[in-house]
Amino acid sequence: MTDQDLHAHLIGRQGSRADLNTPVLVIDAPALKRNIAEMARFAASKGLQVRPHAKTHKSADIAKLQIAAGAVGLCCAKLGEAEALAEGGVLKGLHITSPVVSPPAIARLAALNLKVEEMMCVVDHPDNAAALGEACEAAGKPLNVVIDIDPGIRRTGVASAEAAVALLAAIRAQPGLTYKGVQFYCGAQQHLEDVAARKAAMEDRAAYLRTVIAALTQAGGAPEIVTGSGTGTHRIDADFGLFTELQVGSYVFMDAQYLACGEIGPYETSLYIDARVVSANAAPAMVTVDAGFKAFSTDADKPVIASGVPEGSKYFFMGDEHGAVVLPPGAEAPALAARVTLTAPHCDPTVNLYDTYHVVDGETLTALWPVSGRGRSR
Ligand code: PLP
Ligand code: MN
Repeated sequence: MTDQDLHAHLIGRQGSRADLNTPVLVIDAPALKRNIAEMARFAASKGLQVRPHAKTHKSADIAKLQIAAGAVGLCCAKLGEAEALAEGGVLKGLHITSPVVSPPAIARLAALNLKVEEMMCVVDHPDNAAALGEACEAAGKPLNVVIDIDPGIRRTGVASAEAAVALLAAIRAQPGLTYKGVQFYCGAQQHLEDVAARKAAMEDRAAYLRTVIAALTQAGGAPEIVTGSGTGTHRIDADFGLFTELQVGSYVFMDAQYLACGEIGPYETSLYIDARVVSANAAPAMVTVDAGFKAFSTDADKPVIASGVPEGSKYFFMGDEHGAVVLPPGAEAPALAARVTLTAPHCDPTVNLYDTYHVVDGETLTALWPVSGRGRSR
């Protein structure tokens, strides 16, 4: 059965997780909802807004659950991701966290700004401020912008307080732009496994952010929005009195990379890949499953087995389409066609390999959600 057939078949009823074609991307819906509720609760307890990052899930369905839990909107890594969310009915508070610079993309952004309430984008160069401002003025609706501040990784953002103040003036010169504040995303600090090291690194970065905000404030540009943070540092960042909102992404799924980090919060793994034993001839030492490089991101560690095979079994990549599950000595091998459930090493690039989330509650398949932003990286 194709996903489309399954969709038609599911309308008004429920299916079974056991029957799914594999490999398949599965969401444990109760765990996902608990994660969303916990982040909303935490942020509210600190008086902060949440603008979750959609780069993790690329899903209008999940975005709507986050908004229902109080999120002010969604962050998007790229313009295409924002367009995909808008097409899916998310029409409020979309913020693009990476600069949009080519003339055709700027024209698309000016058009999207007309459809979305409180559309926002980063800017990190005066030339880009001019280009965005002219396009949005011509389109007839000013675009909200925040100054992207480089936290020291030299990826994007202005590199000094002076550059931020110069950019503020360039933004102010554009009737087509509305200055809202700053973005400060410390990507290099998110996955520091040692909690004390993560905290010390963020204290250092927060001190720098404070100096840039002071310079902007002195120039008449006190930020209304200070957006940033991520799953790894949000509980640290919330206490600086600097951020007004959290751009957390991965907390919805809690992948293996984040589970390895200490004290992130009570978030649970909610994203799984169900695979199946397709050959068991080498048993009892190992079985072959139908999930390889095309089923998981390969930038992080190997996938970790969650269930379906004896405790102590380990997964190894065998190639594009296959993986080996090596069993501990003396363990009984799973039967041919048995299901093996694994967790994603790194959630964002893994999700981008699939068209559909298969949403389950225990063994019951309750919904199919499109990964609507899949491949929308431009
Ligand atoms: N903000 C920006 C700009 C990002 O690039 C990312 C992730 O890479 C996030 C927020 C979300 O981070 P996390 O998935 O660690 O919560
Ligand atoms: Mn990531």
